[in-house]
Amino acid sequence: AEDALRQAQKMEAVGQLTGGIAHDFNNLLTIITGSVDIALRRLDNSADPRVGRALGNAMRGADRAAALTQRLLAFSRRQPLDPRAIEVPRLLAGMSDLLTRTITEAVAIAIDAPDDVWTIEADPHQLENAILNLAVNGRDAMPSGGSLTIAARNRQISIIESGGNNPPPGDYVAITVTDSGVGMDPETLTKVFDPFFTTKEVGKGTGLGLSMVYGFAKQSGGTVVIDSTPGAGTVVTLLLARSAGSAEAPVSMVRESEPFGT
Ligand code: ADP
Repeated sequence: AEDALRQAQKMEAVGQLTGGIAHDFNNLLTIITGSVDIALRRLDNSADPRVGRALGNAMRGADRAAALTQRLLAFSRRQPLDPRAIEVPRLLAGMSDLLTRTITEAVAIAIDAPDDVWTIEADPHQLENAILNLAVNGRDAMPSGGSLTIAARNRQISIIESGGNNPPPGDYVAITVTDSGVGMDPETLTKVFDPFFTTKEVGKGTGLGLSMVYGFAKQSGGTVVIDSTPGAGTVVTLLLARSAGSAEAPVSMVRESEPFGT
């Protein structure tokens, strides 16, 4: 719990700092794009063509920087958690359109979540965001295509397994996002949860995805475990605790008894 609190405070501080910088930076970018735009409009045919190209490059760079600041601003406006009972198979099914639209054609997406997966308690919106983040990372790791599988399984963590990367003993739902991409070397793996660590080019990555996913999982009483093999792919596992209420009355049993009462 202390770990979760520290992570939450760290992300809060990072969020405030980021929001402030991104806001100021955005104002400066407006000056740059506005000025370059004026220069481009005033450019006449007699000008050296290199001037036009240079201005075009400046504009494209500023556009990428603007895309980055938009991501940073979105990050700093994160909402507080609003936990609810979630049926993971239904949540994943609801994301399928969004996922196919986001992931390129060269990547085959599969969702594998049996109906007997336990109910969990988490913020559904932020869980969707976390899964989308992991899916986008998987896509980015497969520039020439591959397969992306999002699966959910019940998982009991025993006292023996607990500790290290694993959460306290108990009932969990493991949501795994598996890609057949480039994978990560051990050196990269040690840094992936650090805010702003990214190997992606400016405007494409913020390095905040996995730190947000990790912060979300910790705050929801769960954790994130990553297994990766360079050249073969990555499995990111989101472990989220089974909802306390669902252990007593599984959703399916409540439903079955309904016809008798009415
Ligand atoms: P971003 O995606 O903006 O770079 P993240 O925190 O989500 O930020 O990821 C940090 C880095 O971790 C990525 O830049 C990449 O190097 C590495 N990474 C994350 N997910 C994967 C993956 N599925 N396969 C390979 N590398 C990954």
